[in-house]
Amino acid sequence: MGWQFVLIICACAYICSAENVVDPTIKTMEAFSGYLNVNGNEKDPFHSTMVDFVNLQKQIDQLSAFSDSPAPSVTRILYSHNDVAARRFIKDLMGRAGLSVREDAVGNIFGRWEGSEPDAPAVATGSHIDAIPYSGKYDGVVGVLGAIEAINLLRRSGFRPKRSLEVIMFTSEEPTRYGISCLGSRLLAGSVSLAKALTQTVDNDNISFLDAAKSAGYAKNEDFSNVFLDEKTYSAFVELHIEQGPILENEGVSIGIVTAIAAPASIKVDFGGNGGHAGAVLMPQRNDAGLAAAELALAVEKHVLESGSIDTVGTVGIMEVHPGAINSIPSKSHIEIDTRDIDEKRRNTVIEKIQESAVSISKRRGVELLEFKIVNQDPPALSDESVVKAMESATQVLGLSHKKMISRAYHDSLFMARKAPMGMIFIPCYKGYSHKPEEYASPEDIANGVKVLALTLTNLSLN
Ligand SMILES: [Zn+2]
Repeated sequence: MGWQFVLIICACAYICSAENVVDPTIKTMEAFSGYLNVNGNEKDPFHSTMVDFVNLQKQIDQLSAFSDSPAPSVTRILYSHNDVAARRFIKDLMGRAGLSVREDAVGNIFGRWEGSEPDAPAVATGSHIDAIPYSGKYDGVVGVLGAIEAINLLRRSGFRPKRSLEVIMFTSEEPTRYGISCLGSRLLAGSVSLAKALTQTVDNDNISFLDAAKSAGYAKNEDFSNVFLDEKTYSAFVELHIEQGPILENEGVSIGIVTAIAAPASIKVDFGGNGGHAGAVLMPQRNDAGLAAAELALAVEKHVLESGSIDTVGTVGIMEVHPGAINSIPSKSHIEIDTRDIDEKRRNTVIEKIQESAVSISKRRGVELLEFKIVNQDPPALSDESVVKAMESATQVLGLSHKKMISRAYHDSLFMARKAPMGMIFIPCYKGYSHKPEEYASPEDIANGVKVLALTLTNLSLN
């Protein structure tokens, strides 16, 4: 694919020069990509020095200093003082990259490089910079700072976009403050229920979303539906991200091309029983809410394994019993279940089975099923064939090894896929670590990701 593309570009250049008409787009395309120079000796059309990874690493380090916890950990919570400062940092970098910056009512930040066809749907890229407590400095950040560096790289190379290029910094990908993951992209994708909910949502300190957003300079009015994206805004969306898993590093592969993003469903379950003294109440008389929760946790594992697919996963990450004393039979229990799949129907079947189990366990154990609440149930997303081809072509032209893979974590791309053909580029990260201070991606791997992103953007911008 890459070579075909090269040949097409070469052919175009030849025809243009033959007619003595120079198409500036093609001209700059040659200049920036070095396509015409691509041969056995020079596989890398950007030349490795062209990604300014020293400066990019400096920016990653600078951004990590906007944190509520000490280095090397990063904690950056939505609309906090450090989040607002980090946003200023990003807007400044976008401005320096020659992008025109705008923000919407929840603080999604857009940096636009106007193309020669400004009315055509634009090509967008981006990620998030918020960080869960005591996490690392690469998750999301690589996809924002890396995207700005991709723009800088393209400018330095003399590229001129046909479709406009936009870098997006999404608001609150992490659910830390208001319990809503991918808040910004979910709203961009047109979630009417979220637009309504945001006017009433409060955090654990009882600070409303509206007040917090206003304190950060957003939410000038209370209508969040003006954030929704128009169907024709973007012709494609690509996100660069660390893998957050060990596969690329283990296999020594430079680039992961994401073909699908698994989507989670979250469920909260509460059981209630009679409780009682751990010695006095005999076993046949018990209605142990703790054992009901334990049995349901095992049922989650059983139903997930029954799906028969390695892509189906289920986790019980929270399990609490009340009153929580060694000599007291639990009178209440609470568990939270996360189950994911790339196949929505299969995942929903698992949810149904979990619900049936919750009901039957409560009956059999004589405990009450106080609540079975599906908190969210997002559909998975598939990458678009055209974006996958553009990413693959880029890795081939750059001579980088790549592997098609599934994203088992979810990202803003899951929601952007509802508005535009989507694709994701993964780069390796140390031991697959993420959401902890040890998170690390090497400058070389980041530079590779930036190059693949830049070349993918050119392809999508010109086509
Ligand atoms: Zn992320």
